[in-house]
Amino acid sequence: MTSGNVFLIGAGPGDPGLITVKGRECLEKADVVLYDRLVHPLFLQYVREDAEYIYCGKLPERHHLRQETIQQILVEKALAGFTVARLKGGDPGMFGRAGEEAEALVKAGLTYEMVPGITAGMAGPMYAGIPVTHRDLSGSFAAVTGHTKAEDGQPGVDWKSLAAGIDTAAFYMGMKNLGTIARRLIENGKDPATPAAVIEWAATSRQRVAEAPLERIQEKAEQQQIKNPAITIVGETAALHRKLKWLEKKPLFGRFVWIVKTSAAAGSIAPALRSLGAEVLEAPGYTVDTRETKPLVSPHPFHRLHVAAEESVDVLLNELKQNRIDLRTLPDRITTASLRTLWKLESYGLFAEYTDESPGPDSLWIGPEHAGSEAELFSQKWVSHRLIHKKNTAKATAALLDNDWINTVVVPSSQAVHILWKELDRHGISPVQWLTNKTVTAHGPETDKALQTAGTVPDITLSSPDTESLLHELRNHSLQQ
Ligand code: SAH
Repeated sequence: MTSGNVFLIGAGPGDPGLITVKGRECLEKADVVLYDRLVHPLFLQYVREDAEYIYCGKLPERHHLRQETIQQILVEKALAGFTVARLKGGDPGMFGRAGEEAEALVKAGLTYEMVPGITAGMAGPMYAGIPVTHRDLSGSFAAVTGHTKAEDGQPGVDWKSLAAGIDTAAFYMGMKNLGTIARRLIENGKDPATPAAVIEWAATSRQRVAEAPLERIQEKAEQQQIKNPAITIVGETAALHRKLKWLEKKPLFGRFVWIVKTSAAAGSIAPALRSLGAEVLEAPGYTVDTRETKPLVSPHPFHRLHVAAEESVDVLLNELKQNRIDLRTLPDRITTASLRTLWKLESYGLFAEYTDESPGPDSLWIGPEHAGSEAELFSQKWVSHRLIHKKNTAKATAALLDNDWINTVVVPSSQAVHILWKELDRHGISPVQWLTNKTVTAHGPETDKALQTAGTVPDITLSSPDTESLLHELRNHSLQQ
């Protein structure tokens, strides 16, 4: 067997949109993915469903894979013929041990590609409105480690050169040593009034910035209880945060929204929320499985076809084509109780009726397996497909729940209430209690009722269930902490 290829990929910090196009392409190709704690859980959505996922960060039991073990896995998986992606936060070459990993691969005679990422030392400040260079303020930049393997953990840096020769410095992994870093720079000639900024969880909904003159930065960061991961920027441009900050000004900044999905179709809510500054999880994710779909029964004897789900439309049309059934011979009445299904049918030139009228004896129901109560009314059914939960979104959801990222939940339908409850149960979380400090939105009175029956009063109930009203309501609703 020929050995597989290895990609050492930079994910960028925070925001999953910061991965490069190439990085994402390589990730999608991978059979095996090794990822770190600082890689945003939402990256898992770019990973193939059938890929093997290996988490290398700290596990709840506090074990983590040692570097040698990680390298060994990389080598073994590649030798076994798999395409392997090693996904690191930021850039793999910036305090990311890409050098050591590549050496191990060379030693094993394996081929690899290094795919750069955007490093936290540049993306972090950018998300805080701080450019690391500036025509008037800074003409040089250095990335510096804020800690080392030395026994006292102090960075072994040439402080004199750093203080004298570098305009802007970014300190990684430096939270523990922030006081020492500031003192050393000042002792070695840096002006104590030099602006400094510490950016915590840069490029995420949790981003916070502490900004002060170098001599007071440690005190300020402590006051604000800034913790890891955080990047420290020292230099004149750090003061630009006050003037140029932009992320914090977005109307939905700070929100991490879970849109509870009931179908595989892409929605319009997520991109709208993102553009207003929110982070978004769409889960569960589904794939449409037709492997067990029985051949379509002939639609001719029926007077009404009732299509229950958007995904059924493609499957139906495909079956009709396969069986050479002309659309002009379909029953006169095609109905649906779902707007999205109505639109989908229209895209094929089938103008259906929007109704939930009970079926007559000559009606055929077309929809997914486990569709709930509607299907029971019909005596004749054709199950078009099955929705299967995607592993990658399940993993992302678990990681986000474990770390308590989500603070807003969008519940689009009463069916979504059941799914939300099931998902939380599955993660061992009591839904009612978990939802108490979240902003919960219901898309309409039916959903509101279903939530209340389940024990939760939504914070927002939309009177017209569209994206515009949701955005409007969320903007006016302050974030619960
Ligand atoms: N390879 C990474 C750095 C790994 S070292 C990169 O290029 O960015 C880990 C350090 O990176 C953290 O201690 C912190 O200083 C910084 N870091 C990573 N992600 C960050 C984030 N989202 N916000 C702020 N700092 C971050």
